[in-house]
Amino acid sequence: MNINTKFIFVTGGVCSSLGKGISIASLGLLLEGHGYRVSIIKMDPYINIDPGTMSPFQHGEVYVTEDGAETDLDLGYYERFTSGVYTRKNSVTTGQIYNTVIQRERRGDYLGRTVQVIPHITDEIKSRIYNVAASYDLDFVMVEIGGTVGDIESIPFLEAIRQVRQELGSNRVLNVHLTLVPTITAAGEQKTKPTQHSVKELMELGIIPDILLCRTSQPLAPELKSKIALFCNVSERNVISAVDVAGSIYEVPYMFHQNEYDTIVLENFKMDVKPLKIPAWDKFRNSLRNPEREVRIAVVGKYIALQDSYRSIYEAILHGAAANLARLDILRVDSEDLEKKPELVDELLGGVDGVLVPGGFGDRGIEGKIMAISYARRNRIPFFGICLGLQCAVVEFARNQCGLAGANSKEFAADTPHPVISLLEDQELVLGKGGTMRLGAYQCSLVEGSRIRSIYGKESVMERHRHRYEFTNRYRDIFEKNGMVFGGIHTPINLVETIEIPDHPWYIATQFHPEFKSKPIHPHPLFRDFIRASIEKREGK
Ligand code: GLN
Repeated sequence: MNINTKFIFVTGGVCSSLGKGISIASLGLLLEGHGYRVSIIKMDPYINIDPGTMSPFQHGEVYVTEDGAETDLDLGYYERFTSGVYTRKNSVTTGQIYNTVIQRERRGDYLGRTVQVIPHITDEIKSRIYNVAASYDLDFVMVEIGGTVGDIESIPFLEAIRQVRQELGSNRVLNVHLTLVPTITAAGEQKTKPTQHSVKELMELGIIPDILLCRTSQPLAPELKSKIALFCNVSERNVISAVDVAGSIYEVPYMFHQNEYDTIVLENFKMDVKPLKIPAWDKFRNSLRNPEREVRIAVVGKYIALQDSYRSIYEAILHGAAANLARLDILRVDSEDLEKKPELVDELLGGVDGVLVPGGFGDRGIEGKIMAISYARRNRIPFFGICLGLQCAVVEFARNQCGLAGANSKEFAADTPHPVISLLEDQELVLGKGGTMRLGAYQCSLVEGSRIRSIYGKESVMERHRHRYEFTNRYRDIFEKNGMVFGGIHTPINLVETIEIPDHPWYIATQFHPEFKSKPIHPHPLFRDFIRASIEKREGK
């Protein structure tokens, strides 16, 4: 491990949803903008090995890394905001920690000893942190501790970070505590008591925060800052306002920079504060702030009620819109509503410029998605299908264009006469649910002359996956005869990765998830082109 690597631990106080993930990703971006190298780790106190088995309704999107880890959606923010490539090393849960320690115990590695939370669990937590520091040449390892201080589950993590400071010394470790300073509307007053309580709770665990990041609706008044500083034992300069931003989350790094969060962090470590240079971000922000046109995209899915369930999809669409200087209007359509009231399809989708059907699991809302895809195909509205979106598109095309009545995916109808989507043999044998899908980046060759190849401008790409089911190859001929092109193939085992209809303004679906690789400053080519085509449709070109 580089002996100069510094560690920044971010804990959360008072309540959840204060934007800890975005705050740490933003600080990562700013530190990179000052010329430093960073990596970020998310530590989640739940017992699941990973969120792969959790419902998106509860937990939000499951983000997939290049190496196939199913992780918390905060990893998505880290990748979108910073230049780092993150792997399974960057996503740690209580379940993983206990799993490792228990396996060691069964192997006999601790023979004769009692295995305990301290030191065995805490040592394993620390080793995960040091492992990231040792794997790359870094100036900063930033660690986000999930949950809120006071939760029983997070105590071993807090104890571990207390020990890290003890081991490395305070000149290499900084504790940032993100807390809430609410405003009582009737009195128009900002309140510091919840912050005081939360800091007290941290101190009881032996953690002294160096910086308090105070989420507020208006900047903290100077007297309030000195009050917080006095009661919480931090310097006044280290009490920072994390003010709600209007517009988009991409304003957060700028708000932090204005409030000198980055400078204060560097000062605390006695490090050089080189000028901030993030020109590509400045350009992106300008495009977001100064749109020249509009675009209206319908996202048709079943997890519409929760914003975070399709987090990376919404972000990638926004990146594509900004790249086209378009103000984005997203219409969220619940596929179950469409299913129940098919007559709504015209009313809901009649006025949109593009239709996107994202990934998902289970049969709820499937017929609604198929209806939306059919509508987009027949009415020549740009259509983008992702993962389950591709599978529904295949079913729709089979039924309505290839005359394969009753065609379906085996996931939804095991006895369908035309299983156009089915399991590969090796998946048929899989019994366990956790981490057993086709996960992570796989190669996809792009067929010469296909639209997808011209959009990427490459012969081959690596894209991330998270699925079990595949296009059933024996139906390829009949699909091709009816006008579908298989533009992307995973050649080693001949799997269909992408489909397209050349005789349509823009109809592409991918078995992989391109949204995981889109960044504000590197919008994904498929999203950028989908939005371009949607704008063309809107403007009637
Ligand atoms: N349920 C489908 C499968 O397992 C699609 C998965 C997805 O959309 N991520 O193949």
